[in-house]
Amino acid sequence: GNLAVIDMEVIDSVPEKLSASQIVARSRNAFHNGITRSYNFRVKELKNMKRFLEEKGSDLVRVMQEDFCKPAQESHLLEIDFLILEIDHILKHLEEWMRPEIPQKPLLNFLDKLRICSDPFGVVLVMGAWNYPVNLTLSPALGAIAAGNCCIIKPSDVSTHTSQFLADNLRHYVNEECYPVFLGGVPETTELLKERFDYIFYTGSTTVGKIIYKAAANHLTPCTLELGGKSPTYIDSTGIFKFLYRQILLGNVFFSVDIQMATKRILWGKFTNCGQTCVAPDYLLCDKEVQEKFLKCAEKCIQEFFGENIKKSKDFARIINERHFYRICNLLKDKKIAIGGNVDLENLYISPTILVDINPDDDIMKEEIFGPVLPIVNVRNANEAIKFINAREKPLALYVFTKRTEVKQKFLEETSSGGVCINDTIMHVAVNTLPFGGVGNSGIGNYHGKKSFDVFVHKKSVLIKNFNPLGEKAHSLRYPPYTENGSAI
Ligand code: NAD
Repeated sequence: GNLAVIDMEVIDSVPEKLSASQIVARSRNAFHNGITRSYNFRVKELKNMKRFLEEKGSDLVRVMQEDFCKPAQESHLLEIDFLILEIDHILKHLEEWMRPEIPQKPLLNFLDKLRICSDPFGVVLVMGAWNYPVNLTLSPALGAIAAGNCCIIKPSDVSTHTSQFLADNLRHYVNEECYPVFLGGVPETTELLKERFDYIFYTGSTTVGKIIYKAAANHLTPCTLELGGKSPTYIDSTGIFKFLYRQILLGNVFFSVDIQMATKRILWGKFTNCGQTCVAPDYLLCDKEVQEKFLKCAEKCIQEFFGENIKKSKDFARIINERHFYRICNLLKDKKIAIGGNVDLENLYISPTILVDINPDDDIMKEEIFGPVLPIVNVRNANEAIKFINAREKPLALYVFTKRTEVKQKFLEETSSGGVCINDTIMHVAVNTLPFGGVGNSGIGNYHGKKSFDVFVHKKSVLIKNFNPLGEKAHSLRYPPYTENGSAI
């Protein structure tokens, strides 16, 4: 008897090694059995997900630290707590979201019933990126679960510790047939992508995004692509006399932004997660005068954030791997460093760095930096900044720091980006009533809050008629024999 008990435990702790097609087939079977559709099942599994985050929170912090020294507070605020709040939001509204919409009835349908049903797609694939390895993998999965799908969860192969942890532990919390974790690098993922999914939700680079989109096209699978790019930040100039005059009259400082607060918000956005954030401010646009003020504040701010010895600070993460370390170091070559610029391969450490006198054609202005390096490109005013932004790919986020309404308005009307945050960075992503996603090269589609539910449902139009003779009469014109003129209006 004892032996049997031990055997069971052993079996339970070793996951079955299934092929990609077996995993997908198992989920498809589960979906067709209808298990994921009921409200109660969705709620139960979302609560299980919440329990996983609560019970394994400190382990998740540890594995993310093992991956790239992600500071504990960043792991809590931007990953674990973020997801718990998202689950609470979904649980609060799910019943209402699942209810079929009842659209307005055209006159001729007065006897009919109209419905728009939120139908789960079926078996969906969620692929996460390594930089927020818990959030970006589980947040879309929450939407998929809430919407009644089965969901193959594919964490990044780069954040090895976190991904392995998800694979080892999630199955003890949520239904493994419906929500399996699939681990793998490029060959395994290529194999997985040959399978037919009903929806693919991908987060990662634009280059791989194109590979995913092509694979999806083979099965005509709809996709959300959460990609990256260079998110610009503009700090408004001081050089407008009229504005200065108004400021003097009001007794304000001689500046169209609060430069200290702006610097703090920009540098937090840049250096959090060691610059490895899709919506990090990638580069800064401002005039020379603003640049001087910004650099002064930046020096103080970096010291405030990380102390005298940044390398010893627990609040500053590391670069994920050597490949990215060398890539970023190359971008620093021959550049004028105003602040920072210290690198240490052994620790994959790159200090908070600000570059000046950057040329628009420099390499650093061609690719997403994805590291703690902020180049400043000088422009004379908002018009020049807008021209600069519009000459490049559409970014995921745009940041504008100004007190002037006309400048805010100008950027909103004359530029295109996934999202905009005025007078702060990244914080727009945390508002769960604002959809989050890119446009053009920075992505297709969006999610968060109700949008995460909407992504994973097909809006099925339903017309329900009866056999009432009056209704038959209302639509009788469609039957032959037709009249000479043929028009009903
Ligand atoms: P990554 O290397 O983790 O790749 C993302 C996913 O694609 C992983 O699951 C990975 O296993 C898979 N993958 C990688 N190469 C593949 C291939 N050839 N074929 C099939 N699958 C493959 O992450 P990354 O691409 O380095 O992520 C960083 C990029 O992601 C940045 O550009 C960043 O801006 C962007 N990003 C976007 C968002 C967003 O929400 N829009 C969030 C985070 C990161």
